Amino acid sequence: MNGVEPVRAFIGLGSNLDDPILQLTQACTELASLPECRALRCSSLYHSAPMGPQDQPSFINAVATLDTTLVPLALLDALQAIELRHHRVRDGERWGPRTLDLDLLLYGDEVIDEARLTVPHPGLIEREFVLHPLAEIAPDLRIPGYATVRELAAACPMRGLRRLTPDQLS
Ligand code: ATP
Ligand code: CA
Ligand code: CA
Ligand code: CA
Repeated sequence: MNGVEPVRAFIGLGSNLDDPILQLTQACTELASLPECRALRCSSLYHSAPMGPQDQPSFINAVATLDTTLVPLALLDALQAIELRHHRVRDGERWGPRTLDLDLLLYGDEVIDEARLTVPHPGLIEREFVLHPLAEIAPDLRIPGYATVRELAAACPMRGLRRLTPDQLS
């Protein structure tokens, strides 16, 4: 990393196509090897019901955290490059099936409202498949403009979210 003070970022991972567990495991490794990034932790993997269109497989989700000196848009570029390497296809259907989705959930305590990037990620405060994995790795984190992750997760129903057990990972 360069001389700039690193910022702690949180990334939401999701997949429901082409071996989702492998997609997420590999994506965590790729996050760890991004330039100007130091990976810290990845949550357990979780199984969740699809959001939006129901005629698609259920999802595997996780949340990862890293320290980075990349500026927010450069980090978004890097996340989208990883999605493309996982053959992410955008066919226009909102919340449709995908091999890999990487959302920038938080970038330090910055609030960003640009055409390509909204941070904190707007879904963060209400999505069980984001809040519960995030609570596993950063319960005391404060979401700018809201509450702590622990408080938000406690108020968020599980809606069928399940943490994968070791035998489900093999
Ligand atoms: P959602 O954002 O509701 O989870 P999605 O992940 O399915 O939906 P995508 O199709 O992956 O949405 O992304 C659409 C666009 O969202 C991207 O091209 C990106 O520019 C923009 N975007 C805005 N804020 C963020 C963010 N915090 N993280 C990732 N992408 C973002
Ligand atoms: Ca469909
Ligand atoms: Ca998403
Ligand atoms: Ca996305």
